[in-house]
Amino acid sequence: MSLVRLVFLGPPGSGKGTQARRLADRFALVPLSSGDILRDEIRAETTIGKHAQSFVESGRLVPDDVISGVMLAGLRRLPRSAGFILDGFPRTVPQAEALDQGLRVLGLPLEGVVDFALDDAAILERITTRRICSACKTPYNVRFSPPRKPDVCDRCGAPVVQREDDREEVVLTRLDTYRRQTAPLTEYYSTRGLLYAIDAGRPPEAIERDLAAVILSLEAR
Ligand code: AMP
Repeated sequence: MSLVRLVFLGPPGSGKGTQARRLADRFALVPLSSGDILRDEIRAETTIGKHAQSFVESGRLVPDDVISGVMLAGLRRLPRSAGFILDGFPRTVPQAEALDQGLRVLGLPLEGVVDFALDDAAILERITTRRICSACKTPYNVRFSPPRKPDVCDRCGAPVVQREDDREEVVLTRLDTYRRQTAPLTEYYSTRGLLYAIDAGRPPEAIERDLAAVILSLEAR
């Protein structure tokens, strides 16, 4: 079981979610995906879900105070000894500041931030071909890693679907949002000496190898 505390940063479709799940399984880390949490809240029609829905569906960012509140509440619920991977949060400088502040109070500072770098053409290609299990969230790709039975999850048997916001017109908004609001976080974290850059255009196994090396080096400190 690993105790490291990480953030995965990168544009939509860069493989953060897939790698967060793989590494979390392998090192017994808790994966916390802000997108998954918001989609669950929307499905359950909670107050947060109702507030977030129009933002998520149009590819815009949910207000900072809403998402920071949700994610910090999730972090406070973890056992003190748990390591975690934050996937998709923070996405703006104010969110990063709220996270720093929340983790300072808990006495559990971040140890590393991985930046998944991928160009826009590759992102569009990946996102428009990706699918996700509607229940257990296992990711698929219709070209490279389709489910064994069309549209049925290999793991849990639930329907495999395309996310509403993975349609091309919404993806273009999400990419623009990322470049304007989230990309500045690389500087925020590099000045704090936390940033590890990863070329996300390679096969998942190669990326996983690099990430495992980062985790092992952080554990060895
Ligand atoms: P994702 O699954 O990470 O691509 O997130 C899907 C959508 O959820 C985003 O396009 C945003 O609308 C919303 N979202 C997820 N994480 C955040 C965040 N940290 N801040 C604001 N909105 C978010």
